[in-house]
Amino acid sequence: MRLDHLFARQPQTLSFEFFPPKTDRAWHTLEDTIDQLSGLGPDFVSVTYGAGGSTRARTREIIEHIQAQTPLTAMAHLTCVGATKDEIRALLDEYAGAGIANILALRGDPPRGSGGFTPTPGGCRYASELMELVAADGRFALVGAAYPEGHPEAADRFSDWKHLLHKFDAGACAAITQCVFVEDEYLELQRWASAQRPDARIIPGILPVTDFAAVKRFCSFCGAKIPDSMSALLEPLLDQPVAMRAAGIQFTIALCRRLLEAGAPGIHIYALNRSTATAEIVTSLRDSGHLSQPCSS
Ligand SMILES: Cc1cc2nc3c(=O)[nH]c(=O)nc-3n(C[C@H](O)[C@H](O)[C@H](O)COP(=O)(O)OP(=O)(O)OC[C@H]3O[C@@H](n4cnc5c(N)ncnc54)[C@H](O)[C@@H]3O)c2cc1C
Repeated sequence: MRLDHLFARQPQTLSFEFFPPKTDRAWHTLEDTIDQLSGLGPDFVSVTYGAGGSTRARTREIIEHIQAQTPLTAMAHLTCVGATKDEIRALLDEYAGAGIANILALRGDPPRGSGGFTPTPGGCRYASELMELVAADGRFALVGAAYPEGHPEAADRFSDWKHLLHKFDAGACAAITQCVFVEDEYLELQRWASAQRPDARIIPGILPVTDFAAVKRFCSFCGAKIPDSMSALLEPLLDQPVAMRAAGIQFTIALCRRLLEAGAPGIHIYALNRSTATAEIVTSLRDSGHLSQPCSS
């Protein structure tokens, strides 16, 4: 199923994101997770493309496994890192051959320690350029990345938000945000973007909060804001993992409720290749009527 077709008919979607596992054991865990989360009937699932272009063979393996072995709609992440346009076109041929119809097109992050993104000669410099290349191919629906607080390299959030609009101009049918913890940050971006482009569909990315120390580490480099309310709730529980997890999940559920009540067109959960926290959040949101039931139920 192409996501542009799905979005045209469905105002709200539920989706999950996985990353390529590095070991065979982690691969089996991911297979189990995919099996368990399939039961929740997500509208689509996505698989990241290793930072710095690493693990790209694994991305292809997982995305093709999902496409061939499960009823799920799959979206492959694709970056500009380390690939010429011809190499990207060759990968698109493979994806199309495997029945993949959706691409999340990104610039990508450079390999750790390389000091910044350098475009590959003969490759793409920005995500919007990669989108133009994939859009010209014509076989894929396109999605882009969005940053409510602004991308860390941007001078300010408005200059970054303007570049987000280029992604819609280049053919994106939606954007997914980096993890959101403050609903107002998301809502300001959504309102600003809809004022420029009423059809700009921006889906908030949700990281289930199970380990506050890990969340703080992650936010220190991606630039997502941690609200004071979350720190006040979870900082005192740092040495009580069970209580911290329970409070973190409740925080995440409450955040999703506020986002959906304010009109977010669904949620995209960074499932981190585990099923339990994601399942708890989705079940609670369905019980409270904030998320629609899966089509089959
Ligand atoms: C939902 C989501 C999924 C992700 N998945 C992956 C993944 O699978 N693999 C991975 O490696 N990374 C992933 N990332 C991280 C992403 O690759 C990085 O954040 C990267 O630094 C920026 O990617 P982008 O696609 O937003 O780039 P771009 O949109 O190209 O933006 C990069 C920077 O350039 C600026 N810019 C954009 N266009 C222009 C222009 N025309 N002129 C001047 N400046 C411009 C932007 O403001 C920004 O500061 C993901 C991020 C999100 C939000």
